[in-house]
Amino acid sequence: MKIICIGRNYAEHAKELNNPLPKTPIFFLKPDSALMQKNQPFFYPDFSNDIHFETEIVLKINKVGKYIQKEFAHTYYNRIGIGIDFTARDLQNNCKEKGLPWEIAKAFDNSAPLGQFIAKSRFDDVNDINFSMNINGVERQNGNTKNMIFSPDYIISYISQFFTLKIGDLIFTGTPEGVGPIKIGDHLEASIEGQKLLDLRIK
Ligand code: ZN
Repeated sequence: MKIICIGRNYAEHAKELNNPLPKTPIFFLKPDSALMQKNQPFFYPDFSNDIHFETEIVLKINKVGKYIQKEFAHTYYNRIGIGIDFTARDLQNNCKEKGLPWEIAKAFDNSAPLGQFIAKSRFDDVNDINFSMNINGVERQNGNTKNMIFSPDYIISYISQFFTLKIGDLIFTGTPEGVGPIKIGDHLEASIEGQKLLDLRIK
């Protein structure tokens, strides 16, 4: 199982980090050891002083595919969830300055908490899904998949040129604006269309 994450897929988020808008999807991988499920607590790691939350819609692949055409991409995922792409922003900024790969900042253990999934069939339109993140009871991020630069179907088609997609693979589709640091003691709750699917505490 692999976790594929899309970067800079919402214009307002690219702007808040002073990044140019991508012309093609930017993506990176996290290993399976990044995955954290069942609302387990996240233990703040020693190697960073600036871990940020990025709340993202997640697609779960249910069919093996390579060179998937965009018009068939919707048949390759059947579940939609919400996850967090935890990012050590201090390490990432250092990597960016030096032109180094991002893995140290993005792919560390437990950097991909994942909530429960909802069947895709329950949504009228995957390109119009509202989602949000509350921290300590205050809404900190909300987004809608219609604001993605690259749609889920386009992402699947694009990625599958490079990587064979396999059953159980996860695609984190990028974060809207509003990312920020977490601190020990925070309570994070992520929802899709008002339904809470992820609940975790920072320890
Ligand atoms: Zn992200």
